[in-house]
Amino acid sequence: MRIETAQREQLQQWEKELEQQYQRICQHNLSLDITRGKPAADQLSLSDDLDGILNGDYRAPDGTDTRNYGGLEGIAAARELGADVLQVPYEEVLAGGSSSLTLMYHAVLTGYLFGFAGNQPWKDMSAPKFLCPVPGYDRHFAICEQLGIAMETVPMTATGPDMDVVEQKIREDDQIIGLWCVPKFSNPTGVTYDADTVDRLAQLGKVANPGFRIFWDNAYAIHDLDHQVALPNIREAALGNETADSVLQFASTSKVTHAGSGVAFVSASPANLASLKQQMSAMTIGPDKVNQLRHVRLFPELTQLKQHMQKHAEILRPKFACVLEHLDKNFADSDLGEWETPKGGYFVSFNTRPGVASEVIRLSAEAGVKLTPAGATFPYGKDPENTNIRIAPSFPPLEELDTAMSVFVLCVKLASVRKALQ
Ligand code: PLP
Repeated sequence: MRIETAQREQLQQWEKELEQQYQRICQHNLSLDITRGKPAADQLSLSDDLDGILNGDYRAPDGTDTRNYGGLEGIAAARELGADVLQVPYEEVLAGGSSSLTLMYHAVLTGYLFGFAGNQPWKDMSAPKFLCPVPGYDRHFAICEQLGIAMETVPMTATGPDMDVVEQKIREDDQIIGLWCVPKFSNPTGVTYDADTVDRLAQLGKVANPGFRIFWDNAYAIHDLDHQVALPNIREAALGNETADSVLQFASTSKVTHAGSGVAFVSASPANLASLKQQMSAMTIGPDKVNQLRHVRLFPELTQLKQHMQKHAEILRPKFACVLEHLDKNFADSDLGEWETPKGGYFVSFNTRPGVASEVIRLSAEAGVKLTPAGATFPYGKDPENTNIRIAPSFPPLEELDTAMSVFVLCVKLASVRKALQ
């Protein structure tokens, strides 16, 4: 089906046929959900050994009694786990509570209220703003929106954010104090930043406002579907450019063990870590060290962690294959949509023809398939072209996903034909 070259009568005929198929599907009273990137129950079960793993022995390898107060940075062995994931020295890692998003929120608050490493607090600047590669992760944008930090979008490319745009904006505007990045299997496009992008990012600290920080959210650092995809090391690139203070890295075990009760990590230069700890010390005496120890016992070495991630990949692979098969079969020879083929992570990002995405989402919802709301992958929920839809294949069982994708492709066709007829 090619919309551009079709005659009006052809489009009307397609609309009639698609409308009939759509009405039939609506009668099935489906209730399916491919909105958020949540692990499925069988993925969560991979980590059920966490329950009872301590077996009464609460001592960390260094002798710490994890049941007691203290240790703002987390236990050393958990920091080492975070260091393995982020490929940094453990001294530069803080192991926190269950959510990296919380750590990111605290890091933004630290910059906003107090400033990092002796720099001006962002709240005292005239117009502090973040650069936001789009499509991106809605919860990053929500943090800025809540704190009243302005956001400027930068297009994502197949190798990361468009660096010409990033560099130009930073050169021209010293009020830019942050940049959101999901550098490996980006949410939602699945792209992994290449070496040139990482190197250029590491150089930004030389020209940006001294308080500028890259929020390197490596949420999918070890979430490869097939072979391991290499992400160039931003810390090493920053050290080479003497910009180590310009980077804050984040990760967690949320999609490794139990999504709601994992361990989160932040890694940063000593000066940045000191700023973060100062902010956090008024807020907490320390994280849940017992849970950190559980994770250390489950993954005593990196080898166990890698084996564990392969089991996740085995469960996820057929689900991604299902989504991509539907897209290929229906749209490979059409002008109805574009998408990337991710090699890991949790999402497939689909771009419809301009102005069609919200109608696809509405039609799918009426047919019983819930998709991420239109615009969610853009700051303030506004997708200027109304094209992007984030598909999250992980949570539903394979048969349900298959049905949901049949509905989705039908709704893309119907909404596209109707738009062309307007
Ligand atoms: N960062 C990204 C890019 C995500 O996609 C997600 C969850 O979907 C998170 C962070 C949330 O991580 P956590 O559970 O550690 O807060």
